[in-house]
Amino acid sequence: MHETKYIFVTGGVSSSLGKGIIAASLAKLLQARGHRVTIQKLDPYINVDPGTLNPYEHGECYVTDDGAETDLDLGHYERFLNVPTSQANNVTTGKIYQSVIEKERRGEFLGKTVQVVPHITNEIKERIQILGKSGDYDIVITEIGGTVGDIESLPYIEAVRQMKWELGDENSMVIHLTLVPYLAAAGELKTKPTQHSVKTLMESGLKADVLVCRTEHELNDDLRKKLALFCNVRKEAVIQSIDASTIYKVPNLMLQERLDRVVLETFGLPVEEKVDLTAWNNFVTRHQNPQHQVTIGLVGKYVELQDSYKSILEAFIHAGAENEVKVKVDSIHSEFLKPEEAQKKLGHLDAILVAPGFGERGIEGKIEAVRFARENKIPFLGICLGMQMAVIEYARNVVGLKNAISQEQNPEAAHQVINLMKEQKDITNMGGTMRLGAWACQLEKGSKVYDAYKEVDIKERHRHRYEYNSEYKEQLEAAGLKTTGVNPKTGLVEIVEIADHPWFVGVQYHPEYKSTVLKPHPLFVAFVKAALDNNQTKK
Ligand code: GLN
Repeated sequence: MHETKYIFVTGGVSSSLGKGIIAASLAKLLQARGHRVTIQKLDPYINVDPGTLNPYEHGECYVTDDGAETDLDLGHYERFLNVPTSQANNVTTGKIYQSVIEKERRGEFLGKTVQVVPHITNEIKERIQILGKSGDYDIVITEIGGTVGDIESLPYIEAVRQMKWELGDENSMVIHLTLVPYLAAAGELKTKPTQHSVKTLMESGLKADVLVCRTEHELNDDLRKKLALFCNVRKEAVIQSIDASTIYKVPNLMLQERLDRVVLETFGLPVEEKVDLTAWNNFVTRHQNPQHQVTIGLVGKYVELQDSYKSILEAFIHAGAENEVKVKVDSIHSEFLKPEEAQKKLGHLDAILVAPGFGERGIEGKIEAVRFARENKIPFLGICLGMQMAVIEYARNVVGLKNAISQEQNPEAAHQVINLMKEQKDITNMGGTMRLGAWACQLEKGSKVYDAYKEVDIKERHRHRYEYNSEYKEQLEAAGLKTTGVNPKTGLVEIVEIADHPWFVGVQYHPEYKSTVLKPHPLFVAFVKAALDNNQTKK
């Protein structure tokens, strides 16, 4: 077996150029050529993980099977590759320092001064190689967050420099993602920012092997030559990444630009003609040629920032393609959803999804959206906090438990139909202490969820502290809110449904994290189908 190859993806000129999508697209192509690939994200911030970050700061917090709270780019990696990621796929400066400091306290560096070089850089190098050494992958792509030249990225760039020296050019390479801006006044694409960012990289001793240039206009031959000459790369290694209408087109764009070939050639690996993207392309075709359209309301409090609900929006794309439907998502701000406006704001929707969330802001609007969906028989999916709101709404308006609420929003309330698990009661640390990662769930045959999954035993990912309070189970069930999924070990209620409703499902877990291009999530597929049925009967 040949050694694991390492590809480092750095970014220059500007943030938000889409390093994650380029990394995922390259990985997809390498996978389609038969290589076993994984992608890792290194984040230079000091939070140990993004679990404690507000979505406005950093978008959605993605969760892996093994319970890591991670950067949303890991979601792209899984959606593109259909291979699960884990704790090892996301490393932050916080994690690196935490581990080095713990080692120092244990006496592992006894007698030595602990420094950024070599201790922090060694720790970074170890974390990069964990995936490679597992033996599970031929190629590890490591995406370095931030932009070269940032103070906080320096130890990462130095670690990469050392690794390149140690592994050699045949086993490691750097892909630098940059921006080639178009100046309308001059009518020209400009290469100078790219030249400067490559120069910044070189000041740290790192040479870019491949340049991927984000651009709004085609790069002509002269421009490619110029970039190659001034940035010290082969001309074929200047790759254009032109704006695409959907991220799912990027792998094919990179294939046309021969990014995968350039990478394999650089490593001295054979480049065969065969690239199997059949299933991927079937999806793209279905996604781009919908037969119908449905409008689904996404009720949440972070709707101003699309990235806050990234996995949900992507799951709609996968499920839409599966149903040959374009899912138009209408964002509805739960904070401003008043009962008297419900008809105006929600009346046109084919289905309603109440989103996950934390805290008190926007709660009543979410409950209102549940009521509207329940009473008007509009297909409804409640995720995590959305499921909790469905239980609260039912308790209040059907069972008649006035002011029923979750302990999270009112710890003094008389009817806390959602409350803390025993295990959560004494927890004082906020970071990494929720019920996280994949948990088993057993489905009730004959339920909507069973119809969707077509199996009894499922595993889904969680990220929450509060739970359905089983003291109210009898009352809620008697009134018609059925439990159709429980945790087989603990008996915790994971799914509720209203039998007497076209499609009303609340799930304590996050199905969106597991939806991929090749495996659209069954619950999203069923939900979009219910939205389509509703849309068609209205006609
Ligand atoms: N805030 C709720 C809890 O902690 C729900 C969390 C979520 O929606 N992810 O239980």
